[in-house]
Amino acid sequence: MTDRMLEVTGLTVRFGGITALDGVGFTVDRGQMVGLIGPNGAGKTTLFNCLTRRYQADEGQARYEGRDLLSVAPHAIVDLGIARTFQNLGLFPRMTVRENVMVGAHGHARAGFVSAALRLPSVRREERELRFRANELLESLELTGVADRPAAGLPFGTLKRIELARALAARPRLLLLDEPCNGLSHGEVDAFAAILRGIRDRADLTVIVVEHHMGFVMGTCDRVVCLEFGRKIAEGTPAEVQADEAVRTAYLGTA
Ligand code: ATP
Repeated sequence: MTDRMLEVTGLTVRFGGITALDGVGFTVDRGQMVGLIGPNGAGKTTLFNCLTRRYQADEGQARYEGRDLLSVAPHAIVDLGIARTFQNLGLFPRMTVRENVMVGAHGHARAGFVSAALRLPSVRREERELRFRANELLESLELTGVADRPAAGLPFGTLKRIELARALAARPRLLLLDEPCNGLSHGEVDAFAAILRGIRDRADLTVIVVEHHMGFVMGTCDRVVCLEFGRKIAEGTPAEVQADEAVRTAYLGTA
């Protein structure tokens, strides 16, 4: 018996003459970590943008926990338990690491709101809860030592972990990670993978991860979907996809 969390069917997105996604379909079961791979421009980020309602799909469906995801208002995505990170880090450089994570814990909050909220007596209880949640995450992501430092100037690998903590702060059930290993050293990739696996196992989290780092994808994901020119060209276990002739030609360049 599978517990299906996401079912994407025939998803198509066009930008003028470009078809960024062309009838893409795949499923994700609860608790899985699914890798989304493909060459530059394959449509991976567009897929995330569709699922989080930043982009409008031209055709197709996405059912999330049995609900029509594509009719949900963009601002309501976080309330459904979906969080994402971005290729370009979107941290607030002058805020401390803890405050950056607290912004995520607040869901819809904006930096200014949280900064103001931290000074208002009427929201002190909420602040305590946000801080407690942030502290838990900082600990599990090995960030406690930098919690009170401004994000600006911290090493890139640390910033990536802060971004992950911020996404997790909203207590998502489905986490969309966009190139979390980009710019990390081999050692940092291994550490990130170990942390992510640990969190996934503890928090009953389902993850879709866009990533070019094949070692990370092959070692961390349960299943892999490969896109090329907006189309799904392969899907299966990491070993199956790695061995797939079309994938090797399109992406790995080792056919
Ligand atoms: P990368 O690995 O380089 O991040 P990707 O697989 O994430 O690539 P997308 O960013 O989804 O690919 O882009 C897919 C295609 O859609 C590309 O041709 C891109 O130029 C186009 N595209 C994406 N967003 C837009 C947009 N807002 N307007 C016009 N074209 C877009």
